[in-house]
Amino acid sequence: MNTTFPCPTCQRPLVWSTGNSWRPFCSERCKMIDLGAWVSESYSIAEAITEDDFNNDPFSSR
Ligand SMILES: [Zn+2]
Repeated sequence: MNTTFPCPTCQRPLVWSTGNSWRPFCSERCKMIDLGAWVSESYSIAEAITEDDFNNDPFSSR
């Protein structure tokens, strides 16, 4: 008896087996897509412009 579940990234039904090293994803690609989505979310926070960005602008001449 096999238990199936949808891949969190592509929703493709998968069989939950110990042979699938990308659980809970169906493949490395889907794992990386999910990881990338998480990373880009973090980046959007990190890229928020602060007052320091203006004070430390390397392109501004004095
Ligand atoms: Zn997938």
